[in-house]
Amino acid sequence: MDLVNVSDISTYAFCPRLLYFRLRFGEDRITEMHAAREIYLSRRKGFDNDWAFERFKQLYDEPEVFNKACKNFKYNLILDEFQPIEWEIKLESNKLRLKGVLDEIVLFRGKKLPLTLALRKPDGDKVWFRDLVKITAFCMLLEVNEGLVYYCFDGELEKVEITRREKYQVLRLIERVLKVKKGFVPEKQKRRVCSKCWYLEVCNSKPSTFASKFL
Ligand code: SF4
Repeated sequence: MDLVNVSDISTYAFCPRLLYFRLRFGEDRITEMHAAREIYLSRRKGFDNDWAFERFKQLYDEPEVFNKACKNFKYNLILDEFQPIEWEIKLESNKLRLKGVLDEIVLFRGKKLPLTLALRKPDGDKVWFRDLVKITAFCMLLEVNEGLVYYCFDGELEKVEITRREKYQVLRLIERVLKVKKGFVPEKQKRRVCSKCWYLEVCNSKPSTFASKFL
C-alpha cells in the first residue's frame, strides 16, 4: 500500500507544487534544519555540541551549515521538564495511509506526547500551518490529542491541542498528497518564498494539471 510521509503532508501545506517537484526530482540539499536536529538530539541525549558536530560531519559533511545553525540554536531550559522517552521513532499506519519519523516522544505530567522540531516560529500565531499538520499527523499516529513543536532558533516550545478540525485537515492532505504522487501537478502559487525556491525555474515553465484549478 502507498503510504504518505508526514513530511510530504507538511511540504504540501507549505506549497503543493514544491511537493510535486521534490517527489519528482528529489532534494539532497543539507539545511540548517538537519544541523539543528543534530544539536537538539545531542543535547537531549546528554551530549554536547562537539558530539553533534561530529555526527553532522559524518552524516552530511557540511561544516559551514552546522556552524551557522549552532550560532542560532537556543536551548530553552523548560525542555528539562519534558522527560525524553525515545528519539527518531518510526511510525506508520496502514489504516491512515500514513508514516513518518518522529523527532522525540516526551513524558509530561504522566502523558506521552510527540515533539517535532522546526526552526523559526511565525509572528502572531503559535505555529506555522505546516508544523500544525505535521504534529497533528504524529498525534494521529500515536492516538493522542496533544503535541509539542520546538522552534530551535527561537528557543520556544509550543503546545498544540488537536481537535477534529486539525485531523480533518490532515486527512484531506493525505488524499491530496496521494494525487500528487500519482502525477497530478498542482497550481503555481505566487508567494514571497518563490524567489528563493530551489525549483523556481522549472516551476515557471511547468503547466499545472487542468483539474488543479478546481481544488
Ligand atoms: S517557485 Fe513557488 S510555487 Fe513554485 S514550487 Fe517553489 S514555492 Fe512553490
